[in-house]
Amino acid sequence: SRFREMYQPAADLLNPGIGFEELLRKTVARGCYADLGHREQAWIAARLQDFGKLRGLPEQQLRDGVWVSIAESRTQDGGTVCVHRDISAQRKAEEELMRRAALVQMLREIALETNEADNIPEAIQTCIDKVCAYTGFVIGHAWLPPERDETRELVPARLWYLREPQRYLAFREATEASRFAPGVGLPGRVWVSREPHWIDDLAEDVNFPRREVAVAAGLGSACAFPVLERDRVVAVLEFYSAGVIERDTPLLNAVAHLASQLGRVTERKRAVMALNKLRQAVEQSPAMIMITDRQGAIEYVNPEFSASTGYRPDEAIGRTPALLKSGQMEPEVYRVLWETITSGHDWRGEFLNLRKDGSTYWAATTVSPIRDQGGNVTHFLGIAEDVTERKRSEERIEHLAHFDPLTDLPNRALFQAQSRQILAAARRSGRPVALLMLDLDDFKDVNDSLGHAAGDRLLEQVAGRLKDCLREGDMVARLGGDEFALVLPEVEGPEAVDTAVRRLLEKVAEPYTLDELDLFVNASVGIALYPGDGEDAETLLKHADLALYRAKNRGRGTFNFFKPAMDQEVQQRKSLENDLRSALARGDLHLVYQPQVELENRRMTGVEALVRWHHPERGPISPAQFIPIAERSGLIVQLGEWVLEEACRQARAWRDAGMVELVVAVNLSPVQFKHPDLVGMVERVLRRSGLEAELLNLEITEGVVMQDTAANLKLIEALRAMGIRIALDDFGTGYSSLSYLTSLPVDKIKIDRSFVTALAEDPVRRSIVRSIVELGGALGKRVNVEGVETAEQLAVLVGHSVDEVQGYYFSPPVAAKEIQHMVARPAWQEQLPEQAPRSGATRQAG
Ligand code: C2E
Ligand code: CA
Ligand code: CA
Repeated sequence: SRFREMYQPAADLLNPGIGFEELLRKTVARGCYADLGHREQAWIAARLQDFGKLRGLPEQQLRDGVWVSIAESRTQDGGTVCVHRDISAQRKAEEELMRRAALVQMLREIALETNEADNIPEAIQTCIDKVCAYTGFVIGHAWLPPERDETRELVPARLWYLREPQRYLAFREATEASRFAPGVGLPGRVWVSREPHWIDDLAEDVNFPRREVAVAAGLGSACAFPVLERDRVVAVLEFYSAGVIERDTPLLNAVAHLASQLGRVTERKRAVMALNKLRQAVEQSPAMIMITDRQGAIEYVNPEFSASTGYRPDEAIGRTPALLKSGQMEPEVYRVLWETITSGHDWRGEFLNLRKDGSTYWAATTVSPIRDQGGNVTHFLGIAEDVTERKRSEERIEHLAHFDPLTDLPNRALFQAQSRQILAAARRSGRPVALLMLDLDDFKDVNDSLGHAAGDRLLEQVAGRLKDCLREGDMVARLGGDEFALVLPEVEGPEAVDTAVRRLLEKVAEPYTLDELDLFVNASVGIALYPGDGEDAETLLKHADLALYRAKNRGRGTFNFFKPAMDQEVQQRKSLENDLRSALARGDLHLVYQPQVELENRRMTGVEALVRWHHPERGPISPAQFIPIAERSGLIVQLGEWVLEEACRQARAWRDAGMVELVVAVNLSPVQFKHPDLVGMVERVLRRSGLEAELLNLEITEGVVMQDTAANLKLIEALRAMGIRIALDDFGTGYSSLSYLTSLPVDKIKIDRSFVTALAEDPVRRSIVRSIVELGGALGKRVNVEGVETAEQLAVLVGHSVDEVQGYYFSPPVAAKEIQHMVARPAWQEQLPEQAPRSGATRQAG
């Protein structure tokens, strides 16, 4: 009965009497065996031949998947015993076992190979390929969640396994054109559930938008699972079978395992990639990076650290950052650093560090504690940048800002800062301080005659000598030009200062050698004492300057202590200066004119314009007093222009009134020659006033032609080229060398008043005047004598053939109106004595 069950379609034949061959052929014919195909006849033949000789040989599959093992043996009487055993259950168990082994093998291979992958896409691709190879799925594909959350749709990755790419092209294209929201389609469902999903028959699944194209390609079943990194789905993998297949539970279980296994791999890959990026950043960082443990022992240094410090990693690791200490930082800095970082804060600062080769560098450093996940400090991270260059240039700039580049002495700014400190200390100690201003005498001459380079070298040498004279605590600075300042703290008193300054001046006065030339230079010194002459550096400096000014006036190579009277004088000068400025603005100034009388024709040929200031409180102020003030303050430029314009306008008015040939003389200050637009100004004034240049005389002093000679001579020539005549004023008071008269481009010489005073009783002066007159005559220059007060004086001058005179004898300077009267009624003409004949000229009596 078991045979009949096993070979059920031929059950009726299994009766005694039927032969083996008949039975075999009929059971085959009735489909008892699994399809034998074209092998049917050969199989029957082989079976007949082996009949009775089979010993547990090939297992045979019957219909419905039933397997039998067949054993046949002969009996002694020539019969055959056939034993057919149903081994289906055993076979199935074996197959199952094999499949499981294969799945385990698959998981292991996936684990190994995905781990080897260089990046996440490669790992996923490996996984897809392996799953398909082991399971017989014909398509494998991956979906990725959106990079940015807003889209919230899975997107297809270009990661595919396609057993027959051509055949599945349409499916692939449909897939790559799809996006799945959570819950939609196969991947959408897996995304939401985070669990593997199996579709038994794609044709029947309503939540499978790619159904049509899948069925058309002959796909039957599908399976998908997520790749989970912790709880996050980082990919969904889907697989398709050709035709409908049975749900494979072991596979689903394996795949569920894969979901998290692969997730761990991708997570690790992600971390490694991030770490790689970080490591490269650290390794390639242009900053020095160091990591130490909690105790400060170095665990890591980057290549830049080695490049900058000279310490290889193996030389640095295990040691502490004290390795770099230069010993030039305050220990306090390190203490504060350690305190800050151990209390969990960042520390920033700059270190002067030592390289391995012993050189130093500045490192701008940040040190930060590194914490573990529990928040405990485990390491310290030091990041440093070499800022030596910046520091050096800062120092250079700092130095330049505070030191004079020529002498390397402190400059004015540093002097003021340091003297303030010294004074603050003196305030506490109660000891006096001396502040000295020192100025070389006639330094300008050195510059002018030997050149600026020589001048510079002289200043260097002077600076060196001054430094040599200093005691500990003294200070010397160069304030500018040939001006030096010294501070001598803790002096005993004026006598001690007196001795010190004498020593200083002696030292400076010793000969200098410049270009193999011995040079003697003196200096003058002004002294102010703290606290008597001032409480602060500014006041003391100002007072020392005043004292210096006085010392210079007294003569060269001397020194002078400040006296309060000097200060008063300065105050007065200051207030006068202010008053003058407003007087100029308000028009409180006016001009007076003094006649210049030509002796030959006994008539007034010109006038000298002289400025007058009537101060509202102080009354009239002499120009001898306020002109120097105007010169020092620069006001003279404005004032001079006003005088010139006023005088020219007046002269033009006289001419218009019919007083032809009345020349107006205007005084020019040396300071006006320093103004760049002197010639332009004169030109404009002439144009505005409408006066012919021939009717204008400009009076200049010897100083103008002695200083800046070349430039000023050019200016004088320019003025003369316009037609203006130039008079040399106050001749005989300054350098006054007769010889240089010959080369000067002046038209007139005005002999100073001081000669006239002594004229009557001083034969030497008389002969000087005579020489000047003769020389002037020979050179074609007109000679004027100023300050003639008496008839006797005049008589002498007439005897000397002077061309022109000026003085109280004829008239003091008077208002313009009076000049008009004088021309009309020259009362003093009768007073003029007969003039002595001038050499070669015939005189006509007036
Ligand atoms: P200065 O150019 O030598 O002018 C001649 C000075 O001698 C004038 O003094 C005049 O009043 C004075 N004086 C004329 N005759 C006699 C006399 O017989 N006896 C005496 N004792 N003095 C006489 P003033 O006006 O006080 O001017 C003094 C100086 O001020 C001038 O000397 C000149 O250097 C300057 N000054 C005057 N006005 C101007 C001006 O407008 N511009 C410039 N730059 N300087 C001026
Ligand atoms: Ca004059
Ligand atoms: Ca004069």
